[in-house]
Amino acid sequence: MNQELNQEVATVREHLMQQLETAIDKAAVLRSPELKALYSRIAQLPQADRAAFGNALNQLKADLMRIINTHQDLAQALPDLDVTAPFALNSEAAKRAGLLSADLGSSHPLMSELELICDIFATMGFSAVESREIDDDWHMFGALNFPEGHPARDDYDTFMTEQTDEKGKPLIAPAHTSTMQHRVLKHYAADLESNKPIAVVIPGRTFRNEDVDARHEHTFYQVEGVYVAKGVNIGNLIATLKVFLQRYYNNDELKVKTQPFYFPFTEPSLEFALSCPFCKMQGCSICSYSGWIELLGCGMIHPNVLSAAGIDPNSYQGFAWGVGVERLVMMKYGIEDVRHFESGRLAFLRQFSASKDGLNS
Ligand SMILES: [Zn+2]
Repeated sequence: MNQELNQEVATVREHLMQQLETAIDKAAVLRSPELKALYSRIAQLPQADRAAFGNALNQLKADLMRIINTHQDLAQALPDLDVTAPFALNSEAAKRAGLLSADLGSSHPLMSELELICDIFATMGFSAVESREIDDDWHMFGALNFPEGHPARDDYDTFMTEQTDEKGKPLIAPAHTSTMQHRVLKHYAADLESNKPIAVVIPGRTFRNEDVDARHEHTFYQVEGVYVAKGVNIGNLIATLKVFLQRYYNNDELKVKTQPFYFPFTEPSLEFALSCPFCKMQGCSICSYSGWIELLGCGMIHPNVLSAAGIDPNSYQGFAWGVGVERLVMMKYGIEDVRHFESGRLAFLRQFSASKDGLNS
C-alpha cells in the first residue's frame, strides 16, 4: 500500500481516537462519516492496493472496538453514584445505607424571611407571583417608562447576555423585580372591570454589577409589590407599607417617614425610611446617628406604565414598591455584613436553624 493511503488511515485513526476520549456515546464513533468514507474508497482503489487498505481499515475498526468495549466493562463495574449525596464517597457515612435525613438541614434565613414577608402580605390580600431570572429590555426598561437612551437606565448596572431577543437587544439578568410589573398588570387588568383590585407581591432574585462590600452584593433578593384599583392614593401606599413593617418587625411603635425620590416608573416617587429599631431613634452607628434608616423605594404607578399594560390611568390608580430582602433581614437581626448570607458559613447559618441540634450534634 502506498505512502499516501497509509497517511490517510493514520490521520483518521488519530482523529477518531481523540473523539473516543471525549465522546459520551463512544460506540457512535464507529458510525463516523470519516470511517465510512474510508471504506467506500476500497472499491475505487487499484486491485493491488485493495487488500492492504482493507486490512488497515479492519485493524483500525478492531482497535476502536477494543477501546469501546473496555469502557463499557468499566462503566458496568462502577457502582451507581448519587452525586447529590451529602457526604464524601470514601467516608464512613458512605458505607451506611440511605442518606442524611432532611430534618438535619434547615431553611436558609433569606428563604424563611421571604416566606414570612409573603405571608404578611397574604393576610393583607396580596397574592404572590414569582419573578424570573432572565428577562428582556422591554420588561426591564421599556414597559417601565425608561425610553431608549434614558439616563436612569445606567443607574442599574445591569448584567446583559451575549444572546439577544428578537429585536436584537441583549437579554438581561433582572436588576430589579419591577421587570414583572408589566406582566402582572397586563395579566390581571381584566379583573379591574369586575371591581377586583390588582394586589400582587413578586419575590425574586436580582442581579447588579456591584463591587461587593459589607452593604452591596451582586446577587440579592427583592420583593416587589403592585396594587391597582379605583381611587387609590398615596395615603394607601404609606399605610400599607407601614402596617407591613410594623408586623415584620413585630413593633407597633415603628415610625416611618417618606422623602421625595425619583424613579421613571412611579410619579410621585418616594423613599421610605423607618425609625431605627436598634436605638429607638436616639442615634447609633447603624442609622448613622440620624435615628432613621432608609429602607425601600416606592411611589404611585406612572400613568405611562398603566397605559402600556392596557389600564386606563384616568379610571384606575395604583402604587408599587420594591424592597431589598437582605436589608430587611439585616435590620431585623442586626447583621452587619450582607456577604454572610451567601458565604456558606455554617456558624452563621446555624443561628437561624430551627432544629438547633441538627448538624451540630
Ligand atoms: Zn439607630
